Amino acid sequence: MTLEAAVASKIWIVAVWFAFIFILERARPKAAPPTARKRLVSNGALWLVVLLISPTIVLPLTVFASGHALWVRDGAFAAPVMILVDIVLLDCWTYWLHRAYHRIPLMWRFHAAHHLDEHLDSTSSLRFHAFEVALSALLRMLPIVLLAIPFAHVVVFETALLACAVFHHSNVRLPASIERGLSFVIVTPSIHWVHHHAKWGDTNSNYSGVFSWWDRLFGTKSRTIRTPEMAIGVEGFSDRPFLALLATPFTGAGIWRPFPPARETRREYPPSDPPSGAPSARS
Ligand SMILES: [Zn+2]
Repeated sequence: MTLEAAVASKIWIVAVWFAFIFILERARPKAAPPTARKRLVSNGALWLVVLLISPTIVLPLTVFASGHALWVRDGAFAAPVMILVDIVLLDCWTYWLHRAYHRIPLMWRFHAAHHLDEHLDSTSSLRFHAFEVALSALLRMLPIVLLAIPFAHVVVFETALLACAVFHHSNVRLPASIERGLSFVIVTPSIHWVHHHAKWGDTNSNYSGVFSWWDRLFGTKSRTIRTPEMAIGVEGFSDRPFLALLATPFTGAGIWRPFPPARETRREYPPSDPPSGAPSARS
């Protein structure tokens, strides 16, 4: 498959999946659907900026990295099954990168644009500061070069990550048994909505992107249970219009506040907490 064909396939798969989820979450919403049009304008405008930098920054960086690997894969490393290994490795990298966006104040300034959304649906998955997208592509060159990950494998992973992001930000009401079953393997809305809960302890948890096991493995799984009424956003801060969102990392606008340290986050969820009453008690 050529570079162009791989990228075109990714765009089509994600576009069709997005349209499907966008319609489904309005037909079967879990929480009351947001009515504010301003929010859709902000999310759409941030996405358009990302669309501009994708072919001009993200794609060239990825092509360059995969073309300048430190070694050449052959033998077992060139086997078809390696695509699955690469997807798991890139997802693990994405987990730690996401965690860094929350733990390093300079990186949080950019990631906050995503979290300031006060509602969640499929459009939230498009809402990222362009600088974050460019920085993520730059940093991802490291595993691609070190592990000699082929370009096609990165594109397949990106497709899976984007499709999963559309799904786990969505407001789709799923049968509980299906959502519970899926949540053992992939990140579902019930997991990721807690990451967007406007409580610092939950904001700094549930970082997984595609596979849900990373938070269980690395001790960042929140014990909060999602409810349709839970407050979404960043605790102590409110959403802002598109241009203010773009400027937030540079102007601060209060979002630069130092983070609660990890141990403080843990203290918010002592083992004695009753899990069933947790969401309403904390919202
Ligand atoms: Zn986050």
